[in-house]
Amino acid sequence: MARVYNFSPGPSMLPESVLNRAAEEMLDYNGSGQSVMEMSHRSRVYEEILFAARQGFRDVMGIPDRYKVLFMQGGASLQFAAVPLNLLTGSRKADYAITGRFAEKAYQEALKYGRVNMAASSKAQSFTEIPALDPRKFTKDADYFYICHNNTIYGTRWPALPETGGVPLVADISSSFLSEPMDVPRFGVMFGGVQKNVAPAGLTVVIVREDLLGRARFDTPTVMDWNVMAENDSMYNTPPCWSIYISKLILDWIKLFGGLDAMKLHNEHKAKLLYDFIDSSALFSNPVRPDCRSMMNVTFVTPSEETNSAFVKQAAAAGFVNLKGHRSVGGMRASIYNAMPIEGVEALVEFMREFERKS
Ligand code: PMP
Repeated sequence: MARVYNFSPGPSMLPESVLNRAAEEMLDYNGSGQSVMEMSHRSRVYEEILFAARQGFRDVMGIPDRYKVLFMQGGASLQFAAVPLNLLTGSRKADYAITGRFAEKAYQEALKYGRVNMAASSKAQSFTEIPALDPRKFTKDADYFYICHNNTIYGTRWPALPETGGVPLVADISSSFLSEPMDVPRFGVMFGGVQKNVAPAGLTVVIVREDLLGRARFDTPTVMDWNVMAENDSMYNTPPCWSIYISKLILDWIKLFGGLDAMKLHNEHKAKLLYDFIDSSALFSNPVRPDCRSMMNVTFVTPSEETNSAFVKQAAAAGFVNLKGHRSVGGMRASIYNAMPIEGVEALVEFMREFERKS
């Protein structure tokens, strides 16, 4: 069976070697006589998988001991509420940078729990850039400063992290997770849904500095309390067992790949191929300010809606699927996460070139 090149923003493609490994282990994991899907999460064999996955995140991302790695459910969207529930309890003030739809959703959620300040926004620029920051608009005694590190829909990424002084930086890293090295000590909290770069949907990873634990509001639902999750090794209740297992296989794959430095080079190479072609094209263009371009989600348009639709349709017929842009912005978007091979991007560029020649 021929596999397509899948440019989905998430859930998205996984490396074939990982899928094959999961298939090999499907009926009998490591001599246990069971599939990982069937195991009790309290069994020794499963616990080993969970602990190995957690260690894998630590090794690959270089997470210091003073941070906890939590496995949660509910998607990144649950964390939009969990962040204020766990942190907005000191001055009960927080700063948010609005760089797209998911940052806006997080901001709306936080408004329910305290005084939330929009410290910067690029809404007026249709989110085609990361806004300039004016520290005079920051709240000095904020409980945290919130960013969305990579904006999946608009194809932007923070070119540099904001300087927030003593205020903990909280980042949604859903669509840049494991795509490049990140300076973990710069963050108070990082969280991400795994369904783009890390595993099948169902797991959300929260990386939280220990001193930020134990501050949750009294009415925080127990399964959303990071401290409860930390104290129970993420097994306060049944964790998303299968997704955690695949994340472990992905982390092993990244180690074999050469770690996140090598992954960054691989991703930069793919993004450059695509952006260079778009920039040289007379038909396709990318609306994002160049220094804010995402390495993971490359957006592009043609001058007409009809041409956009024709492109998406013809591309799908040729085996390049899920290239339609988000319904709120239209146009096209190629999500080129870790598992997308360079050949996939080269083939897409060739297809775009040919489409342009014929149109
Ligand atoms: N944040 C970002 C950056 C995303 O791309 C997404 C989903 N595409 C979300 C949050 C929402 O994630 P979930 O569907 O896991 O709640």
